[in-house]
Amino acid sequence: MSDKDLSRRDIPENLVRRSAWPDSVSRAVVTPLQPSVVYASECPDQLDAQYEGRVSGYTYAREGHPNATVLAGKIDALEAVPAAGGGGIMLGSGMAAVTAALLGLLRAGDHVLGGDQLYGRSLRLLTQDLPRFGITASLADPTDAGAFAAAIRPETRAILIEVVSNPTLRVADMAAILALGRERGIPVLVDNTFTTPRGYRPFDHGADVVIQSVTKMLAGHADVTLGYVAARDPAQRRAIYDFAVTTGMTPSPFDCWLAERGLYSFHLRYDRAEANAARLADHLAGREGVTRVLYPGRPDHPDHNRAAAILGPRGGHMVSFELAGGRAAANALTRAMPQVNFAPTLGDIATTLSHPASSSHRSLGPEGRARLGISEGFFRVSVGVEEIEVLLRDFDAGLAAARGAV
Ligand SMILES: *Cc1c(COP(=O)(O)O)cnc(C)c1O
Repeated sequence: MSDKDLSRRDIPENLVRRSAWPDSVSRAVVTPLQPSVVYASECPDQLDAQYEGRVSGYTYAREGHPNATVLAGKIDALEAVPAAGGGGIMLGSGMAAVTAALLGLLRAGDHVLGGDQLYGRSLRLLTQDLPRFGITASLADPTDAGAFAAAIRPETRAILIEVVSNPTLRVADMAAILALGRERGIPVLVDNTFTTPRGYRPFDHGADVVIQSVTKMLAGHADVTLGYVAARDPAQRRAIYDFAVTTGMTPSPFDCWLAERGLYSFHLRYDRAEANAARLADHLAGREGVTRVLYPGRPDHPDHNRAAAILGPRGGHMVSFELAGGRAAANALTRAMPQVNFAPTLGDIATTLSHPASSSHRSLGPEGRARLGISEGFFRVSVGVEEIEVLLRDFDAGLAAARGAV
């Protein structure tokens, strides 16, 4: 061996030469985690073929990597993405998905119409950020098809809605809004995070773009921040993808890998959480000190008939309720049930409680919140998979403490 032989094993610097993966006639049963940022091609001709799509091959992880491809394919199957669309795109967060969809499709001079109870950061994007780029936005009540149609302008180029709103769980008039988009040739973007593909599949009903915060129910364990967006039209997919890659919205391979593992049990978690949510809603409804319970599966929900038409027997895993006694009662409730995390998220495998007045809706101020029916005693529950009797006991303890504080 000459001194110039770089493969010499006794020179530590040569360890950077990548080793071949060991041969094995048996294969791993788990999706491999591939953190590689770059992919080595054989020669410039091969790289040409890759970029021109004649052969498939990864080049640079910001543009795509195997863990994102595998995860997106599984969510595509759940969301029933039309095959012609080319499949979903994984992004670093749900908000990256919302942003990429809007900025990928819109240009200066365009107008976007949003639901008036969108996720807080989506509202902020529409009303504060897009105008800085010459894109105007307005909001309308998606439970009122007439109001929504009246808010369309000649320059409206996108509609963004959520099926079930946060935190009052109002149900959008999906049939009317999707028909409106179709008639006027305006793409309808549906953020399906609250409903999940188990509750509702927007593509089946004619939606153009579907968005998920995978952070929530799909990954399901409060340990991953990820988003997903898919389009029916391949040109729209391409525009969203290019914007996302250019602006660096890439997800980490590890997050995709972890989310894939979470996704395996999504249907089991969802069904169990939904059954628990229905029980919890009925349990809370009869209790002293509870002034209101909102659950789409209950006949007393303001949109119950529409919920039944859109979601069928599925009421979802979210329940909201209002306590008598305002902030003092709210403080007493969370203090008396510390086993249930008081945390502003949803979709975790364990139940979490959120208080919109002090978190997601604090920037609205008291009047803005009052318009939506959100008081200091208002809570939103993302119901988890716990044994229901244990959960009901926790809530009973919380409610007893809340009554004592009034
Ligand atoms: C959480 C959420 C988002 C944002 O998702 P992140 O992953 O937190 O960025 C968007 N839309 C809805 C409906 C959400 O609940």
